[in-house]
Amino acid sequence: MGKDTGFKEYARAAVPYQDPLIRLSHYGEFLQPVPEEHLATQGARCMDCGVPFCQSHDGCPIDNLIPEWNDLVYQGRWREALRRLEQTNNFPEFTGRVCPAPCEGACVLGITDPAVTIKNIENAIVDRGFEEGWIVPRPPAKRTGRKVAVVGSGPAGLAAAAQLNSVGHSVTVFEREDRIGGLLMYGIPNMKLDKRLVVDRRIDLMRAEGIEFVTGAHVGVNVDVGDLRRDHDAILLACGATRPRDLPIPGRELSGVHFAMDFLTEHTRALLDADLPSDGGEGAQPIVAPIHAEGRNVIVIGGGDTGADCIATAVRHGCASLVNFELLDRPPDDRAPDNPWPEWPRIFRVEYAHAEAAARFGADPRVFSVLSKRFVDDGAGGVAGIETVRVAWQRDSAGRFTMEEVPGTEEIFEADLVLLAMGFLGPEVTLGEQLGLATDERSNFAADPGRYATSVEGVFAAGDCRRGQSLIVWAINEGRGAAARIDEYLTGATELPLPSDSTS
Ligand SMILES: Cc1cc2nc3c(=O)[nH]c(=O)nc-3n(C[C@H](O)[C@H](O)[C@H](O)COP(=O)(O)OP(=O)(O)OC[C@H]3O[C@@H](n4cnc5c(N)ncnc54)[C@H](O)[C@@H]3O)c2cc1C
Ligand code: SF4
Repeated sequence: MGKDTGFKEYARAAVPYQDPLIRLSHYGEFLQPVPEEHLATQGARCMDCGVPFCQSHDGCPIDNLIPEWNDLVYQGRWREALRRLEQTNNFPEFTGRVCPAPCEGACVLGITDPAVTIKNIENAIVDRGFEEGWIVPRPPAKRTGRKVAVVGSGPAGLAAAAQLNSVGHSVTVFEREDRIGGLLMYGIPNMKLDKRLVVDRRIDLMRAEGIEFVTGAHVGVNVDVGDLRRDHDAILLACGATRPRDLPIPGRELSGVHFAMDFLTEHTRALLDADLPSDGGEGAQPIVAPIHAEGRNVIVIGGGDTGADCIATAVRHGCASLVNFELLDRPPDDRAPDNPWPEWPRIFRVEYAHAEAAARFGADPRVFSVLSKRFVDDGAGGVAGIETVRVAWQRDSAGRFTMEEVPGTEEIFEADLVLLAMGFLGPEVTLGEQLGLATDERSNFAADPGRYATSVEGVFAAGDCRRGQSLIVWAINEGRGAAARIDEYLTGATELPLPSDSTS
């Protein structure tokens, strides 16, 4: 423990974001640089608890050695901090930027005071590692001659590929998109996670370590599943949960109603194809995405990361107005009695996107407890608005939440662009059908937690396609775990670590 009174002396100070009205003028990352002393001070707030709950089941899913690297940062021993971080996390630059940080929800200091800024410190360690040139390709000393195909290049596939490659297996990652990264590339917007400076940098490193990446390779469509099985000793499916939940109410067929991912994916593709400066320099505004929000009245249906990212992107496009519908009630400002520490705090949060919309339009864009009843036709086949009703939530006698419509609260919200961000229903079915894979009750690929083996010999599954739409840190957890099991399957034993939380 660096400073035993640090938690009493220093207040939490998260790394600041750029002012909303400034960051809205570009698509570059919005985290602001801070001096080293800032991070050392924040690291000194870590109490090095006897039982560090930040590393428990409620905390970091990949066993990050948080108190150790907090202390090392406090002492200025950055290179050692990096070595600790690399033991558990293949991609701290992704989690350090966009993980919601369950570790901070479980931080013991959080019982009485604001939690340690763990995520900021993680990010600073890895950024420093790249700046100093400490992170270099480390190809394996020898190859085993075993070949593994990874289908899907999101964080689960990438983590597995990195781990399997490190012990000498020859790994090829097949990705149907034109760029590598899964939702890291086409999903999470550039301002949260820079594609060229951060995502591509890691892919280049992995390529230099000997991993092969094939883009435009849609397994089950233009890459034959039988060929893939014949040519590889094991296959890992890491193809995400990409089937969006629809809203089948009257008027769904009207033009102007789109799935969030179509909007976000095509936006990022247009941004990258336009090759604008990543630092948000001059000229960063004029991209025109296929679904463009400029001058339009936008409604985003659904909260969560996807909804927030749609808000932030639409506001950057220059939308005329923006409203965000949330079916559930507004969460409380503080933990409710049934949501105690160290659980993830289910509280009202103002995310970057909400702050940006408020800065542009003068009010938080969210409307809670609202149900969409039908899309209103503009008379020419386009959407002109959404008819809604407010709902009231209560628990039934079995303790389940139920909702009922509140009479007299019907209302029409105007919109000529509606984005559906209501979650995902599991992996697409084609690949699973071609392989004859068993699925679970939520239509994900069935594979036991901690084992990752599907119903088909030699075929494993990890990440969102196995556990349902989740988080990057869980995808990394699953990719690492699946790699250990695949290594064991190929060689009879493994020295690759299995994350301690491999049970859900
Ligand atoms: C808009 C959005 C924002 C998010 N923001 C955050 C965030 O801020 N923080 C966070 O922690 N999590 C966030 N998430 C969740 C997180 O991105 C996912 O949980 C994570 O990316 C899942 O990783 P994965 O590797 O399992 O799958 P994915 O990242 O979905 O990658 C799967 C890849 O497989 C490819 N693929 C699918 N089928 C095939 C096939 N047959 N052949 C070849 N390739 C195929 C897909 O094209 C895709 O590239 C967000 C999700 C969304 C949708
Ligand atoms: S990966 Fe996420 S949960 Fe783990 S230490 Fe980093 S921010 Fe916290």
